Amino acid sequence: MKLDLERQGEGRTILAVAGGVELELPEDWPQRAELNGELTVDNVGSRFLINGTLRATGQADCARCLDSFRLEWEVPVEIMVLRDVHSDEGSDDSLVLHQKKGVVDLTEPLRECAVLALPPAPICRDDCRGICAQCGADLNQNPCGCVAEDVDPRWEGLPE
Ligand SMILES: [Zn+2]
Ligand SMILES: [Zn+2]
Repeated sequence: MKLDLERQGEGRTILAVAGGVELELPEDWPQRAELNGELTVDNVGSRFLINGTLRATGQADCARCLDSFRLEWEVPVEIMVLRDVHSDEGSDDSLVLHQKKGVVDLTEPLRECAVLALPPAPICRDDCRGICAQCGADLNQNPCGCVAEDVDPRWEGLPE
């Protein structure tokens, strides 16, 4: 995932992304993500603006039921490459790289975008029921019949 500044045409071009990045995350999260999609590259001479949304997929462990599953998430990308190495121009929203010429390696900035876009917890599906805290049964497979202990006592005794 590289961008060759010398070969980049004027104006807007499309950069196709297809490749894996190591995420360096704690276990349960994907250790590696496959990124796919297209980004636009706007070349305005003094800088390049790389924009778009990629799809990421990676193997994760569900925080509720602990099953391994394929996590998919969207990765918004906004990277600015400034060709003036002394410029402090930038914006709050985009990652800013400084490089005068040659080939820019986008692997690390794309890794950062992918990590920032992760959901708050890896959950295999919205209605995953997880594991019973008392007997350990996988509630997606077989409801165990245990009575939940953590009922708020204020609700007890109220008429149905
Ligand atoms: Zn789950
Ligand atoms: Zn149970």
